[in-house]
Amino acid sequence: MSDAKETLYYLIAGLEEWETIKNQIPATLQKGHLLLSRALMEAEISPPPDYVALLDLLQKPVTQWGLPEFERHLMDQPLVVPYIGLSAAAREFKLIYDSPEEAHAKEVLSILQYCRSNVPQLDEQYRQIRMFLITKPVVTYNELNLFVTTLGDISLYNSVRNCYEEITQVASRYRKCPRCGWTLEQRNHQWLCGIDDICGQIQSREQQLLSWSTTERLFRLRTGVYRYTMLPGLAELRAHDELVKRGYEVKMFPDVDRFDLEVKLGQRYIYLDMKDFSNPFSLAKFFNDQTAYQLQKFSGKGIYIVIPEYRTKRYPGFVSTLRKILSPHANHIRILDEKHILKMLKEEVEC
Ligand SMILES: [Zn+2]
Repeated sequence: MSDAKETLYYLIAGLEEWETIKNQIPATLQKGHLLLSRALMEAEISPPPDYVALLDLLQKPVTQWGLPEFERHLMDQPLVVPYIGLSAAAREFKLIYDSPEEAHAKEVLSILQYCRSNVPQLDEQYRQIRMFLITKPVVTYNELNLFVTTLGDISLYNSVRNCYEEITQVASRYRKCPRCGWTLEQRNHQWLCGIDDICGQIQSREQQLLSWSTTERLFRLRTGVYRYTMLPGLAELRAHDELVKRGYEVKMFPDVDRFDLEVKLGQRYIYLDMKDFSNPFSLAKFFNDQTAYQLQKFSGKGIYIVIPEYRTKRYPGFVSTLRKILSPHANHIRILDEKHILKMLKEEVEC
């Protein structure tokens, strides 16, 4: 592991821990501070003497730190956004670091690994869990319990419970997101869904916002699961429904999530994998960091990486930029804008 990568990891993991344990500086952040100070001193730049100065520095784009080794990883993005916390790019960096081949939150990754390692693989249970996580971002204790009990597997029972956190005591702080159903939180006098409020950019919130009226215990998806499983899952589900409506035979998460969607075209199959990254640089890094061997998964005929339409709308040129910055060992991967799925399928039928 390079020093820059390790340092960034400790800083980001430390900041993430700090969001939950507010009254003390986590050991990981202390280590990140130390490693960063060392790198700065080696470059003859004076290091941040305390955590206030450290946070000041971390709010600046990495390109302004004076450490070229670090720029490779986060380009012109900062680690921290004022009033918000960790930046989307920082979270994506950690996600790729934690699960370089899957880009799932660690809670979902452990379910995936368990279902894959079982003999026979737990294909159907895995699909049920993913669908539950996508469609039930906030649940009551009874709903959650009822579902995990049907899985009939104590290990899965615990792993699915672990995707949620209890919000019973603080439920009045939240409103229901009209687009995805997760929790809206007030920041700067605005109700926002998650760190980058993707939902708010797609759908306006002019209507009366609802809160949860229940006397039962209430749980919501943990932030990582919401962001990296549920939100992209909505796009996967929409693409699935759209294709089914057009008469295609489609299966979600075939072979325990080898891909997101499997579309049957006569005697053969097309595989679609949605990749939901905030910018093409993070996604390029996700592919470029993998070995040619790991990338074989995406090399076969009829395999497409799909960029959700809300990403390409928000970041014009996402697909073309991504194609340009993929390393030579990764540039054979077929990248597709979500809105071109149907056109691609028609072309595949013809060839
Ligand atoms: Zn939302």
